[in-house]
Amino acid sequence: MARRRDLARAHRAFRNLLFKKKHLTSSAPILQVVFDTPMRQGFDYLPAAGAPPPGPGQRVRVPFGRRRAIGIVAAHAESSALPRARLKQVTQSIDTAPLWDEATFGVLRWAADYYHHPLGDVLFGALPKRLREGAAASREEIVWRLSAAGHAGIAAGARLGSRQRALVALVGEDGEVLAAITAAGHAAELRALAARGWLESFARSAPPPPAGAGRPGPVLTADQGAAVAAVGASLGRFAAFLLHGVTGSGKTEVYLRLIERVLATGRGALVLVPEIALTPQLVARFRERLAAPVVALHSSLADGARLEAWRAASSGSAPVVIGTRSAVFTPMPALGLVVVDEEHDASYKQQEGFRYSGRDLALMRAQRAGVPAVLGSATPSFESLANAAAGRYAKLSLPERTGRAGKPRVTVIDLRVNTARDGLSPPAMAAIERHLADRGQVLVFLNRRGYAPTMYCTGCGWMAPCKACDARLTVHLARARLVCHHCGAEEALPFACPQCGNELAPVGEGTERVETTLKQLFPGAPLVRIDRDVIRRRGDLEEALGSVADGRARILLGTQMLTKGHDFPDVTLVVVLAADQGLFGADFRAGERLAQQIVQVAGRAGRGDRPGEVLIQTSYPEHPLLTSLITRGYEGFAALALEERRAAGWPPYAHLALLRADAPARADVYEFLEAAGAATPDARRSRVRILGPAPAALARRAGRHRAQLLVESPARGALQAFLATWVGAIAALKPPRALRWSLDVDPSEVD
Ligand SMILES: [Zn+2]
Ligand SMILES: [Zn+2]
Repeated sequence: MARRRDLARAHRAFRNLLFKKKHLTSSAPILQVVFDTPMRQGFDYLPAAGAPPPGPGQRVRVPFGRRRAIGIVAAHAESSALPRARLKQVTQSIDTAPLWDEATFGVLRWAADYYHHPLGDVLFGALPKRLREGAAASREEIVWRLSAAGHAGIAAGARLGSRQRALVALVGEDGEVLAAITAAGHAAELRALAARGWLESFARSAPPPPAGAGRPGPVLTADQGAAVAAVGASLGRFAAFLLHGVTGSGKTEVYLRLIERVLATGRGALVLVPEIALTPQLVARFRERLAAPVVALHSSLADGARLEAWRAASSGSAPVVIGTRSAVFTPMPALGLVVVDEEHDASYKQQEGFRYSGRDLALMRAQRAGVPAVLGSATPSFESLANAAAGRYAKLSLPERTGRAGKPRVTVIDLRVNTARDGLSPPAMAAIERHLADRGQVLVFLNRRGYAPTMYCTGCGWMAPCKACDARLTVHLARARLVCHHCGAEEALPFACPQCGNELAPVGEGTERVETTLKQLFPGAPLVRIDRDVIRRRGDLEEALGSVADGRARILLGTQMLTKGHDFPDVTLVVVLAADQGLFGADFRAGERLAQQIVQVAGRAGRGDRPGEVLIQTSYPEHPLLTSLITRGYEGFAALALEERRAAGWPPYAHLALLRADAPARADVYEFLEAAGAATPDARRSRVRILGPAPAALARRAGRHRAQLLVESPARGALQAFLATWVGAIAALKPPRALRWSLDVDPSEVD
């Protein structure tokens, strides 16, 4: 009980310290330490006696409750709410230097404030798993070698066992790293010879990752050259650039030239990409072109490899880092340039836990480091276009493709007069046949996996529902299963309607069904399908893409996995099967996402020297979204859509936060949100409006009811000031244990 009171007091003290500084002087600083938990509070500790106090950004082991825990020093303070005598001491300092450079640590602290997320969760979440567990942050390795006594003993002809002789041979003249000795099974001999004083150890820096080939690049186009010159003129200070380059216009070459220039000045570059598992080509291309070590950092790396890459980046031995959104937190001692490729991509927003935007933090990182940031895309986000229009970003355009092929020809197919069979309209079938006969490759895009989105009863109209979600089960015919794409629940495919016993029919199309149709229609054309059901392991995608690259596959069918930056130079026809999915989305970004998807997938056509053709199937050919996209192009479409957002008060003309809650009991969710809505500081005075509670688009998922409050304000500062007080009030509510809530600042979806 006393302990709890102490914690509460420490908590209050910690919060107080963040807001007002008390000026009590004393000898050693008090360490404010945060932990790898979603707790909002930190705790005060004293440095170990006689040791230099660990600074902010360094890991420590401390007593925590009944156990010991690893914490990170968030800040030094001069006083604590607890008397010094009652503060516990740090047991061990793990690091001798901060884990992050000052600018990056500043970004992390800023992000915790801006997203109103616990600092401990932010800091630990920014580290590879091994570092969270206490592994050394530096790239030093322990090497064992023969000592003077060892040399003397062997010279004197001392008798050694055969395994000991093998170890001596292994360490040789230069010594051998501990890991290799252990791997060779000589741990016991090592202990024995070290105890005799014949072997000694020392630490040395691990060798840097291998440098790339440094091959020269192609001659730049005039537009590429202008883009390189503009950004290049800003090296050494912060400036934001929006590089709008149509698919195939050579954005990557612009990045590479800039990185070469940055490397020549002794600095490095951080390059963020949406999904590194999908872009092995990019890493290979960087390694071939750049003469400096390049490391990749993303979540599908094995723990050890991730730690090594992090160490190489943080020590500066790998000056180029390519990574997914979390790589934005990688310390780099001499950052010179930040690049965010495909900056519009939704995967830059983390959708659970610490809900940050990797793109936005990359800009903050560049600003804090005083270096330029380049946001590249063929379909820039509307926010970025608005920032460019307002003069906050300098806009650079690459309007031409580097290949000889011109822009693809786009045609809309009206499904109301061209009835589709299993998803394919007669004009689409005819076009596929024509392009195949012409030795072209064909890409068919359908952003829906499985065989059919619904199993339907022809007798009573029953549609197979998920028992845990407000959603229908998707038919997966090859596996004879019904699968929920929201919660993953599965059941066997029923033979008859469970309600009336009548016959069941799969309704609608997914990629699995279209694959069957295409194989029947074009038996001579090998087909490769790319979606999450068939691309499951590392290497599957490379294999599939390889068969497209070498021409074995003639038809390429897939979901949005296909739209992300792959080069298909021989694809001459792109067919978008179901554009209508995105036309009527409830979310204010639905139109933006649809336009991006169509433009991205259309950009895959005709990238070699052959012109492309794009067919878009729709039941709503007069829909203003489609017509304005086709007649005005992407930027014209964006300008129109931004005007609508301005009128309706949506981002970027308003600033949003979403308080989400979910629980097994519906009443709990609404009770909590009502209470949160009532626990607000004066919203009227702070120029903030609260809407809801309203059910989420999927009102029940995995057995949990979901609802939300939307908070909006015309001013970012007003919203931030409001949230800073409100989040404390929400945290003080006592919802039932089973209820989960989260605050999402700048949510990417609000429906
Ligand atoms: Zn029925
Ligand atoms: Zn479900």
